[in-house]
Amino acid sequence: MNYAPLTDQLLPDNISRSFLVPLSEPNLLSPNTSFIGNFQFVWDSVSYGAIQTCPRKYKFSIIDGYQLSPTPSTLLFGIYFHKIQEVWHKLLAHGMDKDLALLRCVRLAGLLGENLLNDRNERTKETLIRATVWYLDQFKNDPAQTNIRPDGTPAVEYSFQLPLFNIDNQTIYLAGHLDRVATFQNSVYLCDYKTTKSDLGDRFLSTFKPSYQFEGYLAAAHILSSVPTSVFPSPPTGLIIDGIQLGVTFTRFQRFIVRITKPEIDEYLTDLEYTIKVKAKGYAEANHWPAEKTSCHLYGGCEFLSVCSKPPQDRERILKTNYVKRTWDPAKAR
Ligand code: SF4
Repeated sequence: MNYAPLTDQLLPDNISRSFLVPLSEPNLLSPNTSFIGNFQFVWDSVSYGAIQTCPRKYKFSIIDGYQLSPTPSTLLFGIYFHKIQEVWHKLLAHGMDKDLALLRCVRLAGLLGENLLNDRNERTKETLIRATVWYLDQFKNDPAQTNIRPDGTPAVEYSFQLPLFNIDNQTIYLAGHLDRVATFQNSVYLCDYKTTKSDLGDRFLSTFKPSYQFEGYLAAAHILSSVPTSVFPSPPTGLIIDGIQLGVTFTRFQRFIVRITKPEIDEYLTDLEYTIKVKAKGYAEANHWPAEKTSCHLYGGCEFLSVCSKPPQDRERILKTNYVKRTWDPAKAR
């Protein structure tokens, strides 16, 4: 089933419309167009982060496509909040009145919230609706104005795929999706939303720099702005990150500005090139992705702990039983 925010209709999957939000997560298995054999030539921050964290994790999650099922609430809540904000900006660009657009976003939050597992008290259907209403109330007249593409649509979920360098005559690309490109105080910023249970203090802010995700986004934005357009009239100044603290009985917001300089971006691109040329290519040629065991127990534990804690001969069976396969293809635009 899909939700059509412009008309407030629920429509079955066999109806084709240009602006529909799927209400369930399809198990997408399709040929991965970012790979030639077992070598990846289109890279995004997720695959770069995975191979740096643990090559075996990269094999399981990116090459084989194994993911936890059902999707954890911590991940799904953030995906839904992003989707609702994308719909908000698209509705406004269609000329919809803000109060009506808010009602449509609240309905969407309620529909998507049905899929949350209710295993986390701060990430439920109710807290998703509350975060949507309170956030859009606070940022109804956002001083960061969304940039508009040449075709008149807003620069939200802006997909890119940019050539970086060649290996053995194969072009290597950087790909991804920018949540929102906006202008604030006459400068271009990339905007993102981050939900957390924790305080929105210095510790929260420190998690965004250094960052594979944001340095990759800013690297792409710098490249894209080399030819000025309505989306990128000038190079980006930095990031606007809206922190969203989720409590059981409250939601708080705080906006942060993060600056990442051009030399830092250049360093990111150099590191990415070495990682692909030395690590990714070497592992692919050897057809072996070694375990990085210092990463197993970080941040609450790797999602493949239950696999790697068993002998090698048991792992494929555990993966097939406890995980679903979804193709992670950075080359696919959203
Ligand atoms: S559990 Fe450890 S070795 Fe296994 S994929 Fe995760 S980080 Fe790598």
